[in-house]
Amino acid sequence: MKLCLHSTECLNFRLRLCLFSKMNCRKGAICKVIGESVDDWSSLASECQDYAECCGFLIRKKGNDDQQTTIMGSMTLFPTKYPKSMYNKALAVQSAYNELYHKVANDYDFLKEALMGTAAADDFVQRQLELYDTVHREGPAALFSLAIVRSDYMYECTDGFNFKLGQIEFNTMASSMAAVSTKVGKVHRYMARILEDPCLYNGDSYPVNDAVPAIADSIIKAWLLYSNPKAVVMFVLGKKDSNFADIRSIEYAILERNPDVKVVMKTADALQKTSFLNEDKRLIIDDNIEVALVYYRSLYAPNGMTEEFWNLRLLIERSKAIKCPSIPYQLAGTKKVQQELSRPGVVERYLSPEKAAQVRSTFVGLYSLKNKEVVEAAKANPHRYVLKPQREGGGNNTYGEDIVAKLHEIERLGESDAYILMERIQPTKQYNCKLNGIVGNYCRCEPTVSELGIYGAIIGNEDEISYNTTAGYLLRTKLQHVDEGGFCAGYSAIDTPYLL
Ligand code: ADP
Ligand code: MG
Ligand code: MG
Repeated sequence: MKLCLHSTECLNFRLRLCLFSKMNCRKGAICKVIGESVDDWSSLASECQDYAECCGFLIRKKGNDDQQTTIMGSMTLFPTKYPKSMYNKALAVQSAYNELYHKVANDYDFLKEALMGTAAADDFVQRQLELYDTVHREGPAALFSLAIVRSDYMYECTDGFNFKLGQIEFNTMASSMAAVSTKVGKVHRYMARILEDPCLYNGDSYPVNDAVPAIADSIIKAWLLYSNPKAVVMFVLGKKDSNFADIRSIEYAILERNPDVKVVMKTADALQKTSFLNEDKRLIIDDNIEVALVYYRSLYAPNGMTEEFWNLRLLIERSKAIKCPSIPYQLAGTKKVQQELSRPGVVERYLSPEKAAQVRSTFVGLYSLKNKEVVEAAKANPHRYVLKPQREGGGNNTYGEDIVAKLHEIERLGESDAYILMERIQPTKQYNCKLNGIVGNYCRCEPTVSELGIYGAIIGNEDEISYNTTAGYLLRTKLQHVDEGGFCAGYSAIDTPYLL
């Protein structure tokens, strides 16, 4: 039995850095460079910011009078120590997760049954199911679908000796931050260089992140399967995407890797006016441009979803274009489906016993609000749970004491099917500094907790999976007292794992 190295929350920050450096490199470089005074931190933070901005680690922020300013995203000053065993476990299980969600997305009866009650209590899910019904009745026009997914985890030190990796959620829609993650990797390597810490930029402890090329390759592969070299890859964007650099970096990687691919960027507004299906169900934009693949980075959330946008979504779903992803994938990515999958025997319907066990070993408690015992337990001990609706992108869950009032409200409104309860993972804390360009431009050094995401890409249809790959990582770190995890909203900072 091995002691959890990460239960160092009581150590002060400087001591942690000394340990960090000495333990792994037998070199006190970080301690040597970082002095006592706050000034030393700010000069380090300023070095970090310059490099990050030169790498294009940027987001756009809405200012007064609707002007946009481009600023640095939030990142940690240092990598976060991460147990190699947990990182490897998350990597190893990814292809089984890809397979599971692909099969679930192709199981109409399961999705309908799992989401029927939720749809009755949640209009947004209801609209998606209706859309799915329509395309399912007509039969899919596209030969394949592509999904770029991200499975998110936190790990905890269960008994002072062992780690447990727990899945937070499986994202199937617009799984973002691959490019910002890669950029922060570069910044951390630079920071290691100025801190004279050779182990950070050499060796296995600092895993290379191939998220951007792997995601670009999956889009290129799907485009090739469409078999029309003139047809374009189309990104669907919001009006003003704060995370523009993350999105465009994927586009640039596609062009670098295969200059024959033409990528176009379209807002839902523009598409709604110019897109149609020809007699052969091919998706046409701007009069005569055929679309091979639609990559949604917008048009999937309830906010701003007008009737015109629902019609546009239906038009795209009905078309021969490969969707990244198609509507059943979006439904498969709901929290309700995550909870249904955790029920005994469900994962086992889709995967081999070995893969099912591998996937199941990352589940934490997931409960329907029909489970009265758990609802009462959550009212009595709300800090042990997270209450989740069927929404994405952060800012929607309920945490801590707020859960009690929210549960009463849900009961009163008869909306229990719209939510799930999840056991709250108590992640191991570590000291780090959050350099926050997004909210207030500050550098705060405090105990933090981290969430690891592993990307995957999968291409297939009902009959076969033609491509299934693991595609790099994301590490997001937030100050320990923060509940939510969103990056663009300023809650979490992009980080990189330092494996030990
Ligand atoms: P979203 O789809 O909006 O990203 P998540 O399920 O990922 O929703 O929840 C948002 C954030 O809440 C996560 O990034 C994580 O920081 C925190 N969180 C969610 N579920 C749990 C959990 N079971 N235990 C601890 N933290 C959680
Ligand atoms: Mg999330
Ligand atoms: Mg999500």
